[in-house]
Amino acid sequence: MNKIVILRLGHRFARDKRISTHIALVARAFGAEELILDAVDVDVTESVSKVCKEWGGKLKVSYTDNWKKTLQGFEGDIIHLTMYGINVNDCIEEIRSSKKDKLVIVGGQKVPSEVYQIADYNVAIGNQPHSEVAALSVFLDRLYQGKELEKDYKGRKTIIPQKKGKKVVED
Ligand code: SAM
Repeated sequence: MNKIVILRLGHRFARDKRISTHIALVARAFGAEELILDAVDVDVTESVSKVCKEWGGKLKVSYTDNWKKTLQGFEGDIIHLTMYGINVNDCIEEIRSSKKDKLVIVGGQKVPSEVYQIADYNVAIGNQPHSEVAALSVFLDRLYQGKELEKDYKGRKTIIPQKKGKKVVED
């Protein structure tokens, strides 16, 4: 599958720290390579690096102070997740069939109207308001058709799945 980059717009420090961290954790666990934030927040970077150290995998976290330039410089499909877009059920096959890299935008409270114009696809995970974390999870799961959930992260810790209880092996 092609490279997936997530752009998180509208990060606000006090309020959004946990949400942006959860976006980062979902990005890593659901197959993305990179997360770009529109504000520097070391807490997000540190949380991701701690998880990667323990459980393996990689997620590059970077920052932009000019989201428009980031979008204009991206070579591939730009997908904006918004409740106002086209239902994911009606566009995911077309999006998946493109072999280009993908940049997936998730917003905060209000996304600049230009984003809707720049995006190649405005995609709704249903046309009801919910959450950026949920929207990103469902979108990536639909894109990868669930295969991302079987990936081996080759971490220092590995879970041996149990019907009951917990089993973790450590290197
Ligand atoms: N009015 C926003 C919108 O355009 O979807 C909802 C704001 S919500 C607090 C923040 C972000 O969550 C949005 O920018 C969008 O990326 C994502 N989001 C929320 N509900 C969504 C939905 N039904 N479909 C796709 N994305 C959604």
